[in-house]
Amino acid sequence: MAAIVVQEVGVLDSERELLDVRNPADGRVVGRVPNEGPKVVADAVTALRAAQTAWEALGPKGRGVWLGKLRDWLLDNESRLTDVLQSETVKPRAEAALEVPFICDVINYYARNAPAFLADEKVRASGPMSLPKRLRTVYRPYPVVGVITPWNFPLAMPGLDIVPALLAGAAVALKPSEVTPLSAVELATGWAEIGAPPVLRVLTGAGATGAAVVDTVDYIQFTGSTRTGRQVARAAADRLVPCGLELGGKDPAIVLADADLEHAAAGVAWGGLFNAGQVCFSVERVYVEAPVYDQFVARLTAVVESLRQGADGRGYRVDVGALANQAQRDIVERHVTEAVQAGARVLTGGKPTGAGTFFEPTVLVDVDHSMSCVREETFGPTIPVIKVADEDEAVRLANDTEYGLSASVWTRDRARGERIARRLDVGAVNINDALFNLFALTLPHGGWKSSGIGARLGGARGIRKYTRMQAITAPRGPELQEQILWYPYRPGRGRVVSRMLRAMVARDLRRRFRR
Ligand code: NDP
Repeated sequence: MAAIVVQEVGVLDSERELLDVRNPADGRVVGRVPNEGPKVVADAVTALRAAQTAWEALGPKGRGVWLGKLRDWLLDNESRLTDVLQSETVKPRAEAALEVPFICDVINYYARNAPAFLADEKVRASGPMSLPKRLRTVYRPYPVVGVITPWNFPLAMPGLDIVPALLAGAAVALKPSEVTPLSAVELATGWAEIGAPPVLRVLTGAGATGAAVVDTVDYIQFTGSTRTGRQVARAAADRLVPCGLELGGKDPAIVLADADLEHAAAGVAWGGLFNAGQVCFSVERVYVEAPVYDQFVARLTAVVESLRQGADGRGYRVDVGALANQAQRDIVERHVTEAVQAGARVLTGGKPTGAGTFFEPTVLVDVDHSMSCVREETFGPTIPVIKVADEDEAVRLANDTEYGLSASVWTRDRARGERIARRLDVGAVNINDALFNLFALTLPHGGWKSSGIGARLGGARGIRKYTRMQAITAPRGPELQEQILWYPYRPGRGRVVSRMLRAMVARDLRRRFRR
């Protein structure tokens, strides 16, 4: 790596345990962060709660101004932030450099649209009972949103959730993965440097810090494994606070006989190996129709063999980086070893390489649905390929999983691709592309089945999810103050008016029913 950033973060005292952050390629310590305990978390959330009221009062336009300043700070510091991100992930520069622009895109989209997305909604009366009232639905933020993120996109992943949450008017407690907290700490540094109100706090630490966040906030937005997601859902249920869960995946790609095979091979390789396969939406299994199976496998293998792996800092000479940590490399190695022991063949790759946590980009064939590389989330640079007789078998096998995040269909016939998409039990389908839906902020990004609950992004829904709907009713005018439901609690004139209104409503209800 050309630029490793070594930094100590936070105010440390002798009582507080520090966590080392290591570069996965060479194991060097590149930073240290405090392992915040429940008391620090609770105090931080109390302070956030206190600051949130003024933040909400700023309104979406006022909050958008602060997010715009954060965007400018991110762009001014882009190169340094990318260095920090690479130091804790060893991503190739081309991949690491995507994260700052990605957050800025999220800021621009939601800051521009927040006033419209959060505007009060005039609601029409449902019938004569509610006719005398002016009705409004108002979007009010959850006071403190807890955002818990994994290690695969240390800047983009927090950005995806904290931006709409802040713009909604919530304060945010962000708990990044202990494996890659330095980029998130940079976000908090930027927020402080622009002089923004104290409504964003980064709480570093291990799993227990995340659990403490879950125990104190008003809404939890969790991204991570299905196993931890279940724990978070249980804890949220105990407190009766809502949660959004973005969990694991085992995304299938279906390559049909009419596909442009060169395009499909490149796209499947990219979808499987981008970020060394550590993307929830990674292509993790490929089903190819029999007539083109041999041709497709040959092309895919050639593409994968041509990729360059390693760490070269600010250079753009490598395509595939390392895995985030040793535990992740062990999972990948186990999946490949078990597959080979059960009869699978490795066409390229198949083993750890170099120092640290690199694992060769791998193509596996002769795999089946009993193997861990097809059943479990691998989250690594492996592409298992399975031959299928036809579209029906591909759809059946693609749906044969507990997960339901996304899928891709490769075909020259768009209508056929869209028809197949509607048969797949997943939250997103890309035709002739992979991962793409994540870049369309107007589309929802969420998993079905064990891949999650709810969705992020998706236009207005992506910001309204951090709000509670409040119903406000008011009389349309002074003459409509009287209420039929109050009868017989109002003496005198009220009683008469209530009776008249009841009679009118009854007549109107009969008339409407007859229509
Ligand atoms: P984990 O579930 O292990 O961790 C996710 C986050 O939760 C980390 O910050 C972790 O802290 C924290 N955490 C751990 N225990 C608890 C707890 N009891 N309560 C609250 N928080 C806790 O996932 P990984 O970090 O290993 O990330 C990989 C997973 O994330 C994969 O399954 C992947 O598919 C999924 N993912 C899903 C995405 C989606 O949008 N659907 C996007 C990206 C990834 P610590 O790291 O310190 O233990």
